[in-house]
Amino acid sequence: MTGVDTSGLVDAARKARERAYSPYSGVKIGAAVLTEGGAVYTGANVENASYGLSCCAERTAMFKAVSEGARKILAIAVVGKSEQFTRPCGACRQVMVEFNPEMAVMMRGVDGFSADATAKSLLPAAFNPPELSKR
Ligand code: ZN
Repeated sequence: MTGVDTSGLVDAARKARERAYSPYSGVKIGAAVLTEGGAVYTGANVENASYGLSCCAERTAMFKAVSEGARKILAIAVVGKSEQFTRPCGACRQVMVEFNPEMAVMMRGVDGFSADATAKSLLPAAFNPPELSKR
């Protein structure tokens, strides 16, 4: 990734994964974001007995960053057991685009899987804020 120091981001996501609250699925996901200001925020998936209230690791990390004042997220690392558990869901992709369509998305599996993308490549033709301003 050009001009963005993401060293340590995957390790931070890997550590966050250990704090997942997933008594129902047993799935553990960790995420870490790097903000434009250089701060790192981590998140893990948080489940609930009312399943629909659960929140993904990616959104947990992004919401922590934004609620602390960040408005642009440069990169996010997602760590899961294997490939299928590192692919962000549609809701998380939409939130990524909100805070930077160019956001680098680093997907890593504990099993060695590795893939990189950008938020906009994961959500083509996204509904986004510039479209709202043109209405
Ligand atoms: Zn998600």
